Amino acid sequence: MIFWPAKKSALFKNKILFDSINKFMIKVDKDKCGGCGTCEAVCPKVFKINEQTFKSEVLNANSELPCVQDAIDMCPSQAISRE
Ligand code: SF4
Repeated sequence: MIFWPAKKSALFKNKILFDSINKFMIKVDKDKCGGCGTCEAVCPKVFKINEQTFKSEVLNANSELPCVQDAIDMCPSQAISRE
């Protein structure tokens, strides 16, 4: 299939738009976090409990590891989100 330059440009713009829509940032609501450590246990490459605050911190907010969804589902405080 042959694309004309104008169509290639439109496809490229759509890809950028699609990629930006699919980029989520993983966030922990520190007010909701009870510091139970479940997220770190389930997904240690993305979540870590801060030893001073006893709240979860996100190590890699752009991670696409499947364990992120497990942490979201298992967090008893519903403090983790992807926005
Ligand atoms: S699972 Fe939820 S409440 Fe527990 S430490 Fe992680 S973010 Fe905080």
